Amino acid sequence: QAKRAGGAGWALFDQAMGADARAQIELQEDLRAALQRDELLLHYQPKVDAGNGQIRSLEALVRWQHPRHGLLGPGQFIPVAERFGLINALGGWVIREACRQLGVWSRQGLRLRVSVNLSVHQVRQGHVVEQIEAALREHGVSADQLTCEITESVAMEDTAATQAMLAGLARAGVKLSIDDFGTGYSSLSYLCKLRPQELKIDRSFVQDLETSADARAVVDAIIHLARALRLTVVAEGVETRDQAEVLLALGCDELQGFFFARPMSVQALVAGGLLTSDGQDPVEFTASAY
Ligand code: C2E
Ligand code: MG
Ligand code: MG
Ligand code: MG
Repeated sequence: QAKRAGGAGWALFDQAMGADARAQIELQEDLRAALQRDELLLHYQPKVDAGNGQIRSLEALVRWQHPRHGLLGPGQFIPVAERFGLINALGGWVIREACRQLGVWSRQGLRLRVSVNLSVHQVRQGHVVEQIEAALREHGVSADQLTCEITESVAMEDTAATQAMLAGLARAGVKLSIDDFGTGYSSLSYLCKLRPQELKIDRSFVQDLETSADARAVVDAIIHLARALRLTVVAEGVETRDQAEVLLALGCDELQGFFFARPMSVQALVAGGLLTSDGQDPVEFTASAY
């Protein structure tokens, strides 16, 4: 009896898996085509300098304008890309597109820096440094304009492949940022060895700043740690004025989040007046946000 019920359960499970697998395979086929057809795009989210309210750096976040499903976020297709071996092609596209845009901005007299996110597979696989160097060369961008964001758990992988990749990045002169910092298990001695240029405080701590003394203590500790190691510290996911004020008071270097600006297309950044050339005033809305 129990066995029969179990059997029926398995049949249902198989069916559900089947539907899900089919959907994934379809999405994977679409993604292969998308890589050829220019359906991917980058949105950019400003990081606001806490000192002067200026935007000198932006994070590139990939989007997919799917012909039937509409605009998809990375959570909806990065896992598929990883599962079906497309992540290096996708990641390569992101790197080239970010460098192309940096080249365009450069020629417009905008001195900006861009961060790209690297997935664990890109870090382990090893061609990423060559991809980056080729893209920088092709678009005449200097290496220090590009930062690679790697999550804390990936960055802390003490494997030969990860080590070689991070050493290659450093040799190329590309900056390293540890993303979602505080959620992994950092060895502080390894962090010293890694020598990133930036730490990004995970959104979960920022979210709880106003309500949790613990979250505030963790943020304070991360900022002090970054200070001691002479790293730039960025808070991600800043959604309210109160959070921004606490972060400013604690000495955070850069703030990023919906309170300042959502990730947006280049056209929207321009239309919003968020990109200014050197010598111009800091962005109005950030000044008022202060
Ligand atoms: P992440 O690198 O930690 O990026 C921050 C995410 O938080 C982004 O989501 C951003 O839109 C969102 N965010 C920013 N400010 C706020 C805020 O104030 N409140 C809230 N609730 N959310 C905020 P998105 O664009 O959906 O990206 C999610 C993740 O996907 C990224 O997390 C990153 O890990 C990954 N990702 C994005 N683009 C790429 C890419 O080109 N390659 C790879 N491998 N991964 C990417
Ligand atoms: Mg990131
Ligand atoms: Mg992050
Ligand atoms: Mg995050």
